[in-house]
Amino acid sequence: MTTSVLGIADDRALGSAVRVIVTRPASLAAAKAAVDDVLAAIDVAASRFRPDSELSLLNARPDQVIKVSPLLARAISAALRGAELTNGAVDPTVGSAVRLSGYDSDFGSIARNGVAMDLVAHRVPGWRAIRFSEATRTVVIPRGVELDLGATGKALAADLAAEAAANIVSDGGVLVSLGGDIAVAGEAPADGWAIQASDDSAAAISDSEETISIASGGVATSGTTVRRWVRAGVVLHHIIDPATGMPVRSMWRTATVAAGTCVDANIASTAAIVMGEWAIGWLRTQRMPARLVEVGGRVHRIAGWPDWAESKLNPTIL
Ligand code: ADP
Ligand code: MG
Repeated sequence: MTTSVLGIADDRALGSAVRVIVTRPASLAAAKAAVDDVLAAIDVAASRFRPDSELSLLNARPDQVIKVSPLLARAISAALRGAELTNGAVDPTVGSAVRLSGYDSDFGSIARNGVAMDLVAHRVPGWRAIRFSEATRTVVIPRGVELDLGATGKALAADLAAEAAANIVSDGGVLVSLGGDIAVAGEAPADGWAIQASDDSAAAISDSEETISIASGGVATSGTTVRRWVRAGVVLHHIIDPATGMPVRSMWRTATVAAGTCVDANIASTAAIVMGEWAIGWLRTQRMPARLVEVGGRVHRIAGWPDWAESKLNPTIL
């Protein structure tokens, strides 16, 4: 892929770096505008940091039947699908657990180092407590349950933004990355979209880092090394084990997965961190190509994720 023929725009939204890449540079402004519209709509619908978001209003009205917008309905449905597929390893009822672990405002404003905080282990209420009808777009959140759509919502935003941008540009393809949750749409470059797998989505593009190619769908990365904070010497991070309601102690520091959509890739990447060693068998059964990095740095390539040495010579399109 010759990077010089691509158009690239960088920005920030939803608490993450946003990167939009188009194969026809002339369509960059139109594609970026389409992406911005989708990200703004997702923020209004599903942000847990905006008191006026539809999600915050929903969480503030427990035990009532609430009709939600089509976009929030899609985000809830993606989150519940994630819970079902992963047997609850990914569970949107982690809301209060995430907040009580200290991730209670936009990540940029969270103190990286702070005083002790009391954490009490509690299994999260569980996704089956949510009553949701896709047909009527109605939801009932039981009292005491807080929905958090942080995992699947950002991935859904990437999928919808890439699709909207590809629909608006007359030809060529679009890649949208939201803090490393990546979706592509439209016509891919001849040798696919080259995606670098790193612990941190802000890592510089480098020849010495591992790269795969995708022609469609999405790639997502979840990890415990970037969104982390320290309280009285205890390292906390943003991925919650639904069984304890506390940041999971995983054998993996980073999980990167490729799938037909960014939502599916993200369901699997978050689940892999929570599942620990069970993730290997689960990803194989799901036939989802994945790259898992142990806390100590050992890399596992699963379900068709290309061997690095081979793919360097001949980039494999997943
Ligand atoms: P990233 O935000 O870096 O892409 P993930 O996609 O794994 O990482 O999403 C993590 C976010 O999802 C957390 O910030 C939190 O809001 C939420 N979350 C944390 N643990 C879980 C879980 N077990 N199931 C569902 N959502 C979770
Ligand atoms: Mg993600």
